[in-house]
Amino acid sequence: MENYSFLSIGSNVGDRSEYIKEAIRLLHEEKEVKVLQTSSLYETAPIGYIDQPQFLNAVILVNTGLSAVELLNVCQEIERKLGRKREIRWGPRTLDLDILLYNHENIETERLSVPHPRMVGRAFVLVPLLEINPTIMLPTTDTPLNDILEKLEDKEGVQLWKQKSGEGAYALFEN
Ligand code: ATP
Ligand code: CA
Ligand code: CA
Repeated sequence: MENYSFLSIGSNVGDRSEYIKEAIRLLHEEKEVKVLQTSSLYETAPIGYIDQPQFLNAVILVNTGLSAVELLNVCQEIERKLGRKREIRWGPRTLDLDILLYNHENIETERLSVPHPRMVGRAFVLVPLLEINPTIMLPTTDTPLNDILEKLEDKEGVQLWKQKSGEGAYALFEN
């Protein structure tokens, strides 16, 4: 379990928080995946294809013995199990599970790009990621992601929905 990876989870169909919790549980059930940390849940305005319900988004940190491609396979299997159908690009979905970062690696294959190529433009990814690690950087730059988030215009579209600690805390996952 020598690798770490940050994953982004989103849902905007049905019982959104249950889909996200179930995805985290299924990930943790994998022999080679251990969930280490979860962010709070954020409600976010859709982007790309905007005529659809609001998303719930979270980011989690896992330890894994899997390669990045094996981890992608696990993510896609969980998307399938939770009833995801691939229809409209960036359209409504019960579950979207993306690999944001895998160790400090740059990976470019037909099926996989890591760091996730669109993460730097997405406040709904950066806000929960920075909640887990406020000083995180991308592998090939020395710009803190926090500085990139500060400049994004859509960050008002990302609202805390259930926080993970303090009053009224909501645990996405309990070990
Ligand atoms: P976006 O990638 O812009 O967030 P999306 O999540 O809606 O859009 P999907 O339809 O879920 O896109 O995925 C399309 C393909 O993206 C997947 O089949 C997968 O092979 C590929 N892909 C490339 N890099 C990644 C990554 N880092 N994490 C997840 N999938 C990836
Ligand atoms: Ca995505
Ligand atoms: Ca995806």
